Amino acid sequence: MPRSSFASLLATADAIARQLANGPVATRVAPAALRRLVAERLPLDRAQDPDQVLATIEDLIRRFSVHVTHPRYFGLFNPSVLPETVAAAALTAVYNCQEAVWSHAPAAAEIEQHALRRMATLIGWSADAALRAHFTSGGQEANLSAVVVALAHAFPGWAEQGVRGLPADPVLYVAGEGHHSFIRAVRVCGLGDAAVRWVPVDAQLRMDVAALRDAIAEDRATGRHAPFLVVGTAGTTAAGAIDPLPAIADACDELGVWFHCDAAWGGGALLSPTLRGHLAGIERAHSVTWDAHKWLSCPMGSGAFLCRRPDAVAAAFDVASGYMPSAREGADDPHRVSMQWSRRAIGVPVAAALATRGPDGYAALIDHQAAMGDALRAGLLRAGLRVVNDTPLPLVCFTHDRIDSGTTTAAAIARHVERSGVAWVSPVKLAARESRVLRACITSFRTEQGDVDALIAAVTAALDA
Ligand SMILES: *Cc1c(COP(=O)(O)O)cnc(C)c1O
Repeated sequence: MPRSSFASLLATADAIARQLANGPVATRVAPAALRRLVAERLPLDRAQDPDQVLATIEDLIRRFSVHVTHPRYFGLFNPSVLPETVAAAALTAVYNCQEAVWSHAPAAAEIEQHALRRMATLIGWSADAALRAHFTSGGQEANLSAVVVALAHAFPGWAEQGVRGLPADPVLYVAGEGHHSFIRAVRVCGLGDAAVRWVPVDAQLRMDVAALRDAIAEDRATGRHAPFLVVGTAGTTAAGAIDPLPAIADACDELGVWFHCDAAWGGGALLSPTLRGHLAGIERAHSVTWDAHKWLSCPMGSGAFLCRRPDAVAAAFDVASGYMPSAREGADDPHRVSMQWSRRAIGVPVAAALATRGPDGYAALIDHQAAMGDALRAGLLRAGLRVVNDTPLPLVCFTHDRIDSGTTTAAAIARHVERSGVAWVSPVKLAARESRVLRACITSFRTEQGDVDALIAAVTAALDA
């Protein structure tokens, strides 16, 4: 691509983001009406001018989306995207990089590994030959990879015999506030929902490690269950809680169980010298989930799975075939060390962002969002609301007497705020609380004090409505 095309892609990405900020965050539309409109506007039974087709697609997306890149979208970890990541994603699509085997896309594969080594260093690992890391479609795939790799590690016969060949049922442990992707992971592995042990949490919504130890001991005592994995979450989805990672690491060391850290969103804190101390202990994990499409502000579909046990990764994923090009000495073929076969260059945009921003630039983005989180907490308190979670990360769960007393509900307030077009927040159920509360996360690096003030005003208006 000519260099001027890069500049225009960057400018387009930026211009669209700025335009969106002047409009409503969300629109509501009935599924059947939208289905009809799409069929009408986008006929598939004849060829059309591509400019026209793309303009139609953009018009539909713009009118009918919750705009997660809007500075007043305070939702579920869906970020504004850094313009250079949009350009890099378009660029890799143009070349259609195929990363199943290293030899087909050596440059893209090495650019990705370069980014992953940087991420490993931020975790506190040495970026040496023992690192096995790859980009995934997201946190779900990364967490599934953790389950598969931990199974392969704990039960040497598993790859061949499956779970039927095991003397006891494998069970894994995740805090009650952990992510539900582990439910799907155990289903996919043929273990069933009962294989997930939800460990109680303390008043700060963090895993109770004494309860974890008890649960593992009890399961082992029955002889029917085989504990093989503990998940510590660094930044829970509902409330941004960080499990006590060092205590979990101690328990896993002593009891001989794989420690996976799910830092899908919270991993971003590692880029900030101010915040990274809150994730201490993550470096003791055997594997880590870290989504670039969350706090690293990269486009949807870019997660990462990082692991320090190459033998386990190989035992989990390695499948040989007679038709794939043979491997090159000194490089892994991505399809033999991960879940995907054909794969696009998911991580090239991540590398583009790391290189464009540099450590200080990325730290500034993360710290700005953390500061906006603090501003939101302070503003909510001033406006007479109550903050009910405790986290250094920019995720605020809050309520009001009128919600607690049942005069209104968090869902009603969220709906009112959404309909106003001003902002987007969601209701959330936290452990040990009867009624749902409101949840607002700073997900956009474009969010400023004025956006925070607008959210608080919209919530206050909804409470008074
Ligand atoms: C978002 C999230 C996931 C799931 O990741 P996806 O990228 O949505 O598949 C898993 N764990 C945590 C803690 C998350 O926040």
